[in-house]
Amino acid sequence: MSRHRVAVIGSGFGGLATAIRLQAAGLATTIFEARDLPGGRAYVYRDQGFTFDAGPTVITAPETLSEIFAAAGRKLEEFVELLPVSPFYRLIWSDGDRLDYTSGPEFGAELESRCAGDGAGYARFLDYSKKVFDTGYTELAHVPFLRFTDMLRCAPDLMKLRADRSVYSTVARFVKDEKVRQALSFHSLLVGGNPFETSAIYTLIHHLERKWGVFFPRGGTGALVAALVNLFESLGGELRLSTPVRSITLAGGKHLVTSSGSIDEPFDLVVSNADVHHTYDKLYDTHPSAARTTRKLARADWSMSLFVLYFGTDRAYDLAHHTVLFGPRYRELLKEIFHGHALPDDFSLYLHAPTVTDPSLAPPGCGTHYVLSPVPHLGLAPIDWETQAPLYAEKILAALEQEMPGLRQHVVVKRWFTPTDFREQLGAFNGSAFSVAPLLTQSAWFRPHNRDAKIPGLYLVGAGTHPGAGVPGVLNSAKATAAVVLSDLALGRAGSGSPRSGQPESAA
Ligand SMILES: Cc1cc2nc3c(=O)[nH]c(=O)nc-3n(C[C@H](O)[C@H](O)[C@H](O)COP(=O)(O)OP(=O)(O)OC[C@H]3O[C@@H](n4cnc5c(N)ncnc54)[C@H](O)[C@@H]3O)c2cc1C
Repeated sequence: MSRHRVAVIGSGFGGLATAIRLQAAGLATTIFEARDLPGGRAYVYRDQGFTFDAGPTVITAPETLSEIFAAAGRKLEEFVELLPVSPFYRLIWSDGDRLDYTSGPEFGAELESRCAGDGAGYARFLDYSKKVFDTGYTELAHVPFLRFTDMLRCAPDLMKLRADRSVYSTVARFVKDEKVRQALSFHSLLVGGNPFETSAIYTLIHHLERKWGVFFPRGGTGALVAALVNLFESLGGELRLSTPVRSITLAGGKHLVTSSGSIDEPFDLVVSNADVHHTYDKLYDTHPSAARTTRKLARADWSMSLFVLYFGTDRAYDLAHHTVLFGPRYRELLKEIFHGHALPDDFSLYLHAPTVTDPSLAPPGCGTHYVLSPVPHLGLAPIDWETQAPLYAEKILAALEQEMPGLRQHVVVKRWFTPTDFREQLGAFNGSAFSVAPLLTQSAWFRPHNRDAKIPGLYLVGAGTHPGAGVPGVLNSAKATAAVVLSDLALGRAGSGSPRSGQPESAA
């Protein structure tokens, strides 16, 4: 019998991880990637000796990575080295106050010295975060929520943990100081969630970071992407770069994939790692169920977008690897980012300084950096970014001079990535940086499923599916999706011509 042929659309972390798992399980897997390099949001720019990771920089949950290599009978350490980062983050407020966020006991003592009772409150918060982690991560993150009954089964646990509360309001029950509340609640922004709206489930990130640590791959996040690509290709998988898929139609029990390089190439099944809205609106637009799913997704709440400015300096600065620079407003600014219709005047920034950990990412004595500012997505604020970007970049560089003296005189290379680029270059609906927002009402069964209910043989993976954005999230989604594909194949119902008995109703 011939091997099943699988097309994976997109080489983001989710696409690569699924492709490795399927190829390792014996399926003939081909990845189609629209861009000239793999990695999706983890793209890499190289310019005059500076190496810029475009997206993820806070690498957590190394276990999820090790598992992928183990699924292929290999070890992560053979392919890439993960360097520990400490402090996890340096937090700086607009009044100059600063706090190093670490996993050691000194962090609790520092919180206590800021506000009597907050040290003990933090200890209780960590207990809570562990409970959420044990349920929300260990038990549920890699489980495909295909049936509503799957949701009902975990609902009592989620209610016990008060998943209906927001991250911020949960943190506020444990600590009193406003800055400490910000320090313990900004994490959900890393996966596209407003701390005032995102479910308290996302407080599990605290335990996850403390349990395994925060890492940065030697050579940058791009080295991790390269490691996954090497593993995939060593298993015999095929990666086709600069090959955007234009459309996919179903005929004769096959998915006919039309890409730039070929016309109507048949596959037994498809795993889409592309933006979920793009998958239905563009790739499967000829399928009768796609228009309804597209409309439903268009009505969903989408996460914010980002303005990302990459810059290299001809000198090194004394910085932490990860710095969060809080602006003067927190709740109000987040409201404008998630619900406003214009670019706010002020900003809160995340500054990445990878040469602190790995100097090889810049020429000797120089510094590689990126700074990102969360901004409203294009569906809310249709900003003309072509005009706005140079002005906004200048304003951000000026603000950074507080931490990086004389910065503008030392910038030797720079480039930016705007919400319009998220839309045009990554096919992201509304230019959203993190896909469908991680609200409780858009999580688990309520999120687009790992397997489509109406289009037989179509599976989804990545930030728009359960459990959601972030590298650990999409790697868990890959685990869930690969498991569903393999179980469907074992049951003889994975191809587009297979019977769909037992298929659940989709929430998407
Ligand atoms: C600036 C930034 C910083 C971040 N920082 C962190 C961090 O520090 N830590 C963390 O854990 N997470 C972080 N994230 C989130 C994390 O990067 C993403 O959630 C994750 O990488 C998304 O992976 P994905 O599998 O969904 O695929 P994506 O990365 O979205 O990749 C999808 C791929 O599909 C391709 N594609 C789309 N349409 C087609 C088509 N028609 N044909 C062929 N190919 C197609 C695209 O080109 C792309 O390569 C960050 C995100 C951004 C944007």
